[in-house]
Amino acid sequence: MSPRNTSLTMVLATGNAGKVKDFQLLLEASPLDIDLKSMQSFGGMPEVHESETTFAGNAHLKALAARSKLPTHSAFWVLADDSGLSVDALDGAPGVQSARFAGEHATDAENREKLLSKLQGVEGALRRAFFTCHLCLIAPDGTRYDFVGKRVGHIANAAKGSRGFGYDSLFIPEGETQTWGELPESTKNAHSHRGNAVQQMLDWLSSVTPPQ
Ligand code: IMP
Repeated sequence: MSPRNTSLTMVLATGNAGKVKDFQLLLEASPLDIDLKSMQSFGGMPEVHESETTFAGNAHLKALAARSKLPTHSAFWVLADDSGLSVDALDGAPGVQSARFAGEHATDAENREKLLSKLQGVEGALRRAFFTCHLCLIAPDGTRYDFVGKRVGHIANAAKGSRGFGYDSLFIPEGETQTWGELPESTKNAHSHRGNAVQQMLDWLSSVTPPQ
């Protein structure tokens, strides 16, 4: 049975509204019939202590936490993402700590402010940075599949634009002159780290007969 002919229910393991929106737009554009559910349908995303040192490890923790809230033996797929920004001049920081760069409960604005202050006096090529998105997909039978997407760019001197979330207003992707905060969402999604990883997942779902 190919998922191309099937309606597939996928539960998104996140409480981050910005990510939910990105995923909705990305999956809507797919020819696969995917019914995307947020964790709101299952009592909310449980708090996950992101104790791993890799995006892969943390994505797996989130997927397992979400799965533990679903009805047993449900035919739902679970999709978790762990993502973040790595800056050359900061030896890859904030990396897996991107959401918590300025503290455990920091806001996006506080994280951006900290990044800009750490990069004061840093110019040119050293402002190079890249986003990583690690997707962990768990099939209804518990089998795990991983997909990774990246997007290179550089950090602007000041925040610009109000679209998106997180570090979007600071990130100028390679080949563009504006930040993701200024560019239309469709431009971001077409070539983003998340868009790239999701495309790999969709290609895989289209091409294999996954265990049900
Ligand atoms: P996570 O929820 O632990 O994966 O945290 C990811 C963090 O990385 C977010 O809170 C943002 O700060 C940042 N991030 C990840 N993806 C994006 C993006 O597409 N745009 C802007 N910031 C992002």
